[in-house]
Amino acid sequence: MAIDATHIRPIAVQPAQLPLNAADPARLPVMETFYSLQGEGFHQGKAAFFIRLAGCDVGCVWCDVKESWTTAGYPQKEVDSLVEEALQYPARMVIITGGEPTLYDLAPLCKGFREAGFQVHLETSGAHPIVGHFDWICLSPKKFKPAIPEVCRQAHELKVVIYHHSDFLWAEQYARLVSPQCHLFLQPEWSRKSRMVPLIIDYIQQHPQWSLSLQLHKYINIP
Ligand code: SF4
Repeated sequence: MAIDATHIRPIAVQPAQLPLNAADPARLPVMETFYSLQGEGFHQGKAAFFIRLAGCDVGCVWCDVKESWTTAGYPQKEVDSLVEEALQYPARMVIITGGEPTLYDLAPLCKGFREAGFQVHLETSGAHPIVGHFDWICLSPKKFKPAIPEVCRQAHELKVVIYHHSDFLWAEQYARLVSPQCHLFLQPEWSRKSRMVPLIIDYIQQHPQWSLSLQLHKYINIP
């Protein structure tokens, strides 16, 4: 389906309205599914089945998947059919991404995949409470809608996108909110990587609690 992303705005959501799938948590709007390698962060290079849920209320100006901001035009898929699809591939890791997946009650999705033997991972901006039991939570906070403290405490991995010099200071603010066990990553925003990578390397050399995350999948041209 071709979607013109230039006119898409983030969906307007009041926290009181969440989760958006309250009427039927076993069905979720899915923009796309694909089998690939995790390109970022702690699990970089591992094979996984990805589910990109539709709908985001964060609105990052540099977002590279603006087509995911809306739910319009995307199918509502049953948890069982998603599990069945993922079982066609050998990896037993599923990564729930978006969009912003925490707009939804993800408990049935997590339960279905865990019962089928999958490790269930979440990629979130942390803007909303997480509903569901995840094996791994990657928190990637965004300036456009701050992460809530509850999600910061739950994160296994903090991944901060570096778009501007000031983002290092901002990253340190979040590093103080996550648990001491949380893995810390700095990742250049893709369109500014040539300018930001040298700064990130220098920063990590001076602050070795951080590691570099590159969007490996974009370098090797896989989804
Ligand atoms: Fe895009 Fe993710 Fe930001 Fe939503 S949270 S606007 S999907 S980068």
